[in-house]
Amino acid sequence: MSAPQAPRGTYDLLPDEAARRDAVVATAARLFGAYGYRHIVTPEFEETGLFERGVGAATDIVRKEMYTFLDKGERSLTLRPEGTAPICRAYVEHGLHKWPQPVKLWYYCPMFRYEKPQAGRYREHYQIGAEAIGSADPAVDAEVIALLGAIFAELGVEGVTLNMNSMGDAACRPAYVEKLRAYLQGREEELCGDCRERMTLNPLRTFDCKVEACRAVLDQAPRVGDHLCADCREHFDTVLELVRAADLLDEAVVAAAAARRGLGQRRRAHRPGDARAAAAGRGPGRRRRQRRARGAPRRVRRRAGAARRRPARRSRSRRPQP
Ligand SMILES: [Zn+2]
Ligand SMILES: [Zn+2]
Repeated sequence: MSAPQAPRGTYDLLPDEAARRDAVVATAARLFGAYGYRHIVTPEFEETGLFERGVGAATDIVRKEMYTFLDKGERSLTLRPEGTAPICRAYVEHGLHKWPQPVKLWYYCPMFRYEKPQAGRYREHYQIGAEAIGSADPAVDAEVIALLGAIFAELGVEGVTLNMNSMGDAACRPAYVEKLRAYLQGREEELCGDCRERMTLNPLRTFDCKVEACRAVLDQAPRVGDHLCADCREHFDTVLELVRAADLLDEAVVAAAAARRGLGQRRRAHRPGDARAAAAGRGPGRRRRQRRARGAPRRVRRRAGAARRRPARRSRSRRPQP
């Protein structure tokens, strides 16, 4: 009998690595606190229906990657695949709408996805994220992006890029979705089986596809950024302006994001008002000194997530599987 091994798609953090991670979490926790975010802890598992409703039944996370099981009482439970749905559940369940809005929360916890443990992808990984619920103010979107920038700067992460997108709203999204669907139907033969299914269920999800042939089709697809109504366009432009005004991200990073605006949807489909800072850092130095002199900004909202997956460890990923 061979010695026990950690389950497939998981890893141990030995003390040196755990100490490095602790330092990252402590930095983020300090900045979240400075921005008025409070720590929230939700269960490691929830009723499966929460994620089916919360993430949207047609997303790949729900369709393929959830770690779902029946417990001894035959209840369908799912190990948490993402942080937003449980936080929204807690917000409603505990009447947080009676608190001063927006309610600003942060979390640090393991997420579970039942996926092929290829390089850099684990079945259990940890995420730090923030949610600000109860405001549609563009300033809240802007602040959460700036906050993510501040965390990366504090950690000395190099080479940050910022991708911002708007998914439109009830006024402009349906027409765009139909336009996209019609385009995809015209090129159906070139799409993979998954994308043909997505085309019917939720065409926006085709942008998640990594198949080369699909990417080629999607590169020429109509862009949501070109189909926003005036309100959505204004919201988006205001967020961008406020991100710039917050002065927590390097000007070059914000300028690049502004230049990409209008190119519309890239890899990820976002929900309305959800702006994400996709990041890979920018050194400390000037920005950090400025920030320290200035103190933390005022308000935030929505959602910043930084998935921190551990770099692939070859010995682990190459281990033969039984
Ligand atoms: Zn595809
Ligand atoms: Zn709109």
